[in-house]
Amino acid sequence: MSTKTVPEMFGENVFDDRVMRAVLSDKVYNSLRKTIDEGAKLNTEVAEQVAAAMRDWALSKGATHFTHWFQPLTGVTAEKHDSFIEPSPDGGVIMAFSGKNLIQGEPDASSFPTGGIRATFEARGYTAWDPTSYAFIKDKTLCIPTAFCSYTGEALDKKTPLLRSMEALNKQALRILKLFGNEDAKYVHTSVGPEQEYFLITKEMYDKRPDIKYTGRTLFGAKAPKGQEMDDHYFGVIKPKVQEFMNDLNQELWKLGILAKTEHNEVAPAQHELAPIYSSTNIATDQNQLMMEIMQKVAARHGLVCLLHEKPFAGVNGSGKHNNWSMATDTGANLLSPGDTPSENAQFLLMLCAVIKAVDEYQDLLRLSVATAGNDHRLGANEAPPAIISIFLGDELTAILDSIKNDTPYEGTEKVIMKLGVHSLPRFSRDTTDRNRTSPFAFTGNKFEFRSLGSANSIACCNIMLNAAVAESLQQFADRLEGAADFENELHELIKETIKAHERIIFNGNGYGEEWIEEATKVRGLSNLKTTADAMPHLLDKKNMDMLIAHKVFTESELHSRCEIMLENYCKTINIEGHTMVDMVRKNYLAAIEGYLYSLAKTTSLMKSVSANVKCNYEITTMERLSELTDSINEATTVLEEKLASLVNYDNIIKTSEAMRDEILPAMENLRKYVDEAEMLTSERYWPFPSYGKLLFSVY
Ligand code: ADP
Ligand code: MG
Repeated sequence: MSTKTVPEMFGENVFDDRVMRAVLSDKVYNSLRKTIDEGAKLNTEVAEQVAAAMRDWALSKGATHFTHWFQPLTGVTAEKHDSFIEPSPDGGVIMAFSGKNLIQGEPDASSFPTGGIRATFEARGYTAWDPTSYAFIKDKTLCIPTAFCSYTGEALDKKTPLLRSMEALNKQALRILKLFGNEDAKYVHTSVGPEQEYFLITKEMYDKRPDIKYTGRTLFGAKAPKGQEMDDHYFGVIKPKVQEFMNDLNQELWKLGILAKTEHNEVAPAQHELAPIYSSTNIATDQNQLMMEIMQKVAARHGLVCLLHEKPFAGVNGSGKHNNWSMATDTGANLLSPGDTPSENAQFLLMLCAVIKAVDEYQDLLRLSVATAGNDHRLGANEAPPAIISIFLGDELTAILDSIKNDTPYEGTEKVIMKLGVHSLPRFSRDTTDRNRTSPFAFTGNKFEFRSLGSANSIACCNIMLNAAVAESLQQFADRLEGAADFENELHELIKETIKAHERIIFNGNGYGEEWIEEATKVRGLSNLKTTADAMPHLLDKKNMDMLIAHKVFTESELHSRCEIMLENYCKTINIEGHTMVDMVRKNYLAAIEGYLYSLAKTTSLMKSVSANVKCNYEITTMERLSELTDSINEATTVLEEKLASLVNYDNIIKTSEAMRDEILPAMENLRKYVDEAEMLTSERYWPFPSYGKLLFSVY
């Protein structure tokens, strides 16, 4: 462990503002700052000087390589290391890093998913420096955050559309701020604090479970006698081995400038959470990717494995990620924070309405932005928000909106008819806004918390959709208000109309209840897209494409390619799971049960030969049932194998994904049921893989 203090250690591996200010000339620093803050173009001379300073700094930290670090559509980050060495005339080497090295890279992109954007024979893509996210050193390599595009300019990554969506929102939000007389703000950015859940198991247990190794989750396993029913793990005392891991993890994250803040045990045994302090969405996204990577690396140092899968274990909670989201100006004003003056409050209500409208109109985009094969196991499974998107506002804020909508008095501390721009909002307490854990999209006092994300999701996807949809609301609002003869009146009408048009999305009740599903779908007409196969094709709905293209977040071909890639990913994931099951059954489970049956049969016959009086009831009934089960397992495996074999090509990805949902997943579930029952009847000595009990309670 380092002997440095936390402030000394914080950001020591980051080429952050402190370093830039120290090592760059004033002229170069100011020019770079303008690029970072305002997106000004960077001239080549400045780029050369920044590159030289970056190289010297990296070398002083012991780095030997550099890489453009990017986020292709695989969901994980990519890097290709080049050393700094260049041959020198004397036969030695110098350590070189040019402005061009910094600004642009050309990884061989042929093996990244492109969804048909670019035929592999012209597999050229390029990476372009994103100066708004600081470069950092990881494993002796200077990592430069970059966007990744095809030579025809199409985005092949998650960062590019995220940056575009932030720009779209910035543009429209500034228009609104101007209407409220705010001329100071130069830009509006969105901020995110992602809370990350994960499981820890020992490396020893991990090595014994091929399903976890190949798919990240257990595909078999009878329930342990104890799960999460005692509620004794949530916020419980952290076990020493876990605490050592967390301490080490915090240090690694702090060195990378990641504001790791809160850590605690989660609901399920072996489940934990880490939350950083929020930052600008682009940085939060990069840092969340980095955090997931570092979690796994640090776990390995402690003889542990960190599972980021959304549903590693059946029967206990899976892992999610909470995307705390807000909008703020460069001058530090949070646009989702209720203000102190009537005017600030009117602006707050308008921003709130923009989000309400966006979430209602683009429910499907938000839903599909978190859709993966893994996350499908959580949403709607009474442990995570339902697949139906709705907004929780809390009783007080809902009552305020109601009183505005109906021109009826709001019964706060005093009875007043709320007139925007005249009355201040009554103070509502933060407490009452944060207590509904069943809502997918909750207002928590000065931000919204989108809770449907899976633990392994990149947060880029949902923030792209959220930013774009809110930009669309704000654009419509600005168009109307800019032309208004009487601003106050128009604003009041606009807010009233928006509440009326979109109040169906507001729901403060229990999102886990059956009644809610009925009401949401039948009465309110909200969409309930249960699986990835149901949700993803809506990316190509006309209203969604029109909006995303109008705000320049995606091009038409990018949208087609993304839909294709996401569905392909879903199919491939389930395909691998199916094959893993077949493999485990054929090679291990059946043989193990046979072994136990043999032992039972031998025992029975020996005992009967010793005494005619023994009945061997236990042995015989167990053998009978196990024998039936081996037949059922064998049959169910054959069915699964045949179904998998019939789906080898992905020519029609929509049809294939529907077959995965309707044929393969049920066949997998059916097979698991028999194996799990057999596990309960078979001696543990014969069972080939560690039980749930061992997996969930292995770390001390
Ligand atoms: P809660 O108790 O409601 O979950 P916390 O204060 O613990 O709220 O914050 C949860 C996460 O939300 C943290 O990552 C925090 O940094 C983040 N957060 C707080 N304010 C904002 C904001 N304005 N924008 C985005 N994220 C925020
Ligand atoms: Mg929270």
